[in-house]
Amino acid sequence: MVDVNLVLRSTRVITPEGTRPAAIAVSGGTIAAVLPYDAEVPAGAVLEDVGDDVVLPGLVDSHVHVNDPGRTEWEGFWTATRAAAAGGITTIVDMPLNSLPPTTTVENLRVKQDVARPKAHVDVGFWGGALPDNVKDLRPLHDAGVYGFKCFLSPSGVEEFPELDQEQLARSLAEIAGFDGLMIVHAEDPHHLAAAPQKSSSQYADFLASRPRDAENTAITNLIDQARRLGARVHVLHLSSSDALPLIAAAKAEGVKVSVESCPHFLTLTAEEIPDGATEFKCCPPIREAVNQDALWQGLADGVIDCIVSDHSPSTADLKTPDFSSAWGGISSLQLGLPAIWTEARRRGFDLTDVVRWMSEGPARLAGLDRKGAIEAGRDADFAVLDPDATFTVDPAELQHRNRITAYAGKTLHGVVKSTWLHGRRINDGGTLAEPSGRLLERNN
Ligand SMILES: [Zn+2]
Repeated sequence: MVDVNLVLRSTRVITPEGTRPAAIAVSGGTIAAVLPYDAEVPAGAVLEDVGDDVVLPGLVDSHVHVNDPGRTEWEGFWTATRAAAAGGITTIVDMPLNSLPPTTTVENLRVKQDVARPKAHVDVGFWGGALPDNVKDLRPLHDAGVYGFKCFLSPSGVEEFPELDQEQLARSLAEIAGFDGLMIVHAEDPHHLAAAPQKSSSQYADFLASRPRDAENTAITNLIDQARRLGARVHVLHLSSSDALPLIAAAKAEGVKVSVESCPHFLTLTAEEIPDGATEFKCCPPIREAVNQDALWQGLADGVIDCIVSDHSPSTADLKTPDFSSAWGGISSLQLGLPAIWTEARRRGFDLTDVVRWMSEGPARLAGLDRKGAIEAGRDADFAVLDPDATFTVDPAELQHRNRITAYAGKTLHGVVKSTWLHGRRINDGGTLAEPSGRLLERNN
């Protein structure tokens, strides 16, 4: 084997064939081979032996709102990608809204890439945005390398990113289907939201009542119908309502091209535990009841839910007012997704190979990142090294994202990220982060 510069060795490496002792040979940032644990280390290669700590493929988080440029006081590429590196994530895909400009034209994409390039501590890709008036921009954005297009079916929260009605959705889906693109959808039906009781309140129950399950269920039903009719590929973002799982399972079985994600907050936090005024727990769709959470875990076990991603969507503290109706909706969890999910997964009898399937392999497949998501020859040498048994208590002061607000403050979680590796280089060494070396990713390169 030529030019191996690094061998990363552990008694527990998670490969597509399972967890085993192995030595990962890295050459030029790429995995050259996955060898037996006691394989001879090639001359000139550095050996890093992490003992019994588990080596996972670097996590892929395909749902991150970086907000840079334009709302960098909320978050930015420097801080978001540092949080990712600290949390074992080696690739993020940035959402097209909340930054100014939004990623809705090729020109805007280039603005965002130029801002991200010098700040990226992990690899960064971009979703484009589908608006009522930018159908003509979708093909050029696709050609320019976005991984797909996000749209809303109800108001997004920012005026520069309006939602699509069913007719506009159909037009965009037809356009995207023409080049086998992917539409990722915030699926809440505006009519159900408008009909739900809306009141100014610091009580979580009032907020929950304002974002009913039916809003999700109806939007997903309509989306599946459109995807079936137009032959388009669609993805349901941040599923909260477990009622929709049978609909999605049936559509998949029928051959409709639909996938779905859920998020750490829906899978580890419950409506019952949210204190009055605690709007760090506010997001849309909302965190629902414990019984709903149990059903979402069943959806993961059944393989209906394809991936778990953060939907990290921060704001400044002043926008997190105690009134749930007016507070900014978004939960900050980029750095904590892996330990949050692992803590709950192990309690429910899942193992780390499941977590890797949901948080690395699944999101990589969703975005078509074929060099990511697995430890095998030919993929990028991106790794997270985890002590799965160690615990820590979440201290917001130790988080890397810009506004250190989080719904997980004070929680004791299992799973300490010991180091993170990107293209064969250690970018996080026990919480000490290296200078930026992330790359900007474009579809098909
Ligand atoms: Zn989001």
